[in-house]
Amino acid sequence: MKHNGLLYMMIAGIVLGIFSGWMYGSTMLAVGWVGEMFLDALKMLVVPLIISSMIVGIAGLGDVRKVGKTGLIALVYFITTTCIAVGIGLVMVNIIEPGVAVEMTVEQVPEKVAGKEAVGITDILKTFISPNLVQSMVNMDILPLIVFSLVFGGVLTTLGEPGKRAIEFFDTINSAIMKIVHLLMYFAPVGVFALIASKLGAAGGGDLFLAELAKVAKYAGTVISALMIHGLVVLPTILYVTTRRNPFNYFKNVAEALTTAFSTASSSATLPVTIECAEEYNQVSRKSALFVLPLGATVNMDGTALYESVAALFIAQMLGIHLGFGEQMIVFLTATLAAVGAAGIPEAGLVTMVMVLQSVGLPLEGIGMLLSIDWFLDRCRTTVNVWGDSIGAAVVDFLEEKWVERGGRT
Ligand code: ASP
Repeated sequence: MKHNGLLYMMIAGIVLGIFSGWMYGSTMLAVGWVGEMFLDALKMLVVPLIISSMIVGIAGLGDVRKVGKTGLIALVYFITTTCIAVGIGLVMVNIIEPGVAVEMTVEQVPEKVAGKEAVGITDILKTFISPNLVQSMVNMDILPLIVFSLVFGGVLTTLGEPGKRAIEFFDTINSAIMKIVHLLMYFAPVGVFALIASKLGAAGGGDLFLAELAKVAKYAGTVISALMIHGLVVLPTILYVTTRRNPFNYFKNVAEALTTAFSTASSSATLPVTIECAEEYNQVSRKSALFVLPLGATVNMDGTALYESVAALFIAQMLGIHLGFGEQMIVFLTATLAAVGAAGIPEAGLVTMVMVLQSVGLPLEGIGMLLSIDWFLDRCRTTVNVWGDSIGAAVVDFLEEKWVERGGRT
């Protein structure tokens, strides 16, 4: 009951945010600080939450063989759904051809991606390990924290009684952080209202937004419709077929996380809410939620992967460059990798797109054409990213139970 009430308030916050940002434009920048406070409060919880979650998650899975199997199921889910998302993006962009007859008016490499030309696969691999954990915490570089916590938690399980006590310690920290998340959610309706109103205000209000949108309407339409096919058809089908859970109920129970994702454009900042929704409302087991969701928020980004493929082909079409099957396969692969490499922060996908464009020799100037509308599409793809992670938690939870617990220990 309480949960439903909060959800309706959050939806009201979003609607009111859109309305006021649309109508009052830059005046709404005045409420930006409220949104930032909410966002900062969420971010404040992320580092302790990730570390304690991964340690408790891996300890909950028990012996190393189970961890391997659960990890494998998660990996297969992540790869499969990301590939399907990129596939949908490619099919849609080839059918709709949003870039044909659009004139490319930008001639400069946008500041955001300038100097990132040399980012390659090895750079993505390097982000898994950090020479300085404290620095990673300061910069909120999540991936090395996950890797460290996984190894650390795994080692703790081998230390007998003292290891158990250490795990209990992190378990308590985790429960305390989740309590704070719970409290923080009471401020979420106001937070999402302020975030959306001020962002739309910064974009100049409804009229300017519409004018910008109109310039690349076909492109935005392609991204959004492809995201909808993935989010409303593919992912729910996967949930239903593997777990027999009702996708509508699951969606409703995770809606707080989805509205937070839409307002913050950050999977990482949304993570505390995603865990709360999966564990509390959707009854995903604690060990699966704590293991899958931090990983998913960092490496599993269906929406981002889909968007990267559509954007790359859009740029090619604008320039009249025909990409054949082989080149589109390269886009397929690099878009998948670029999504893994993108951090769960606003507009990270825009930066990793450099890799996709370079792989098929497209000019980085093309990214300039996407900028004006990216803040909006970012919110849409982040919502799908979080939805994909949430469903992943349920799928892994179910299959892990089925294959590892009941299926016996091979
Ligand atoms: N903002 C997205 C996220 O946090 C990443 C992206 O830019 O696509 O999931």
